[in-house]
Amino acid sequence: MIKVTLMKKVLEGNEDAAEANRQRMKDARIFSVDMMSSPGSGKTTILERTLDALVADLNIAVVQGDVYTTRDAERVEARGARAVQINTEGACHLDATVVGEALGDLDLSDTDILFVENVGNLICPAGFELGTDQRVMVLGVTEGSDKPEKYPAMFRRCSVVLVNKIDLLPVLGMDLADFTDAIRSVNPEIEILPVSALTGEGMEAWYQWLKDGLIARREE
Ligand code: MG
Ligand code: ZN
Repeated sequence: MIKVTLMKKVLEGNEDAAEANRQRMKDARIFSVDMMSSPGSGKTTILERTLDALVADLNIAVVQGDVYTTRDAERVEARGARAVQINTEGACHLDATVVGEALGDLDLSDTDILFVENVGNLICPAGFELGTDQRVMVLGVTEGSDKPEKYPAMFRRCSVVLVNKIDLLPVLGMDLADFTDAIRSVNPEIEILPVSALTGEGMEAWYQWLKDGLIARREE
């Protein structure tokens, strides 16, 4: 009983902080995306490739959630993003308050797109909105097609799924339809973008989705 009440309070506090983040990024005309997945789905590799494609024209910031290391922040900084690292010291998700603190370390007036790379985890990030415009799931085909049914909350709270590592489908003896059917069974409306961050296949559609989001933000 006590635990349930406490969790509710934590989530309510998080919603207030998320709303503050949302307003701040709206005022700065930033398009922001929370990237969520299990560990090893290829989020950081997708970000690296995205930076290679977009940094010439856009200022991109990344808030990196990592349990202990700064490795991913170093990787995206090397590709031209400004990065702020949040070390969760063992905690398994980011919350809106820590992301709000990270926003304070960035020059928001000089940012076009902001990515939050959430902690690799398919359970609690679903419940903790960070105040980004969009939430995106990355699902590596190597994880198997049963993930959406096992962790439906994650897929229901996102607008887009990047199905990554599609170059490995033939090796795995699987079809893209195995994944799209499983995703649609838990969220019929979700947009599915099949990509390979390794070969670059499908990545143009992702870049266009980001650019469209930024245009919509600027037209508000
Ligand atoms: Mg990573
Ligand atoms: Zn957690």
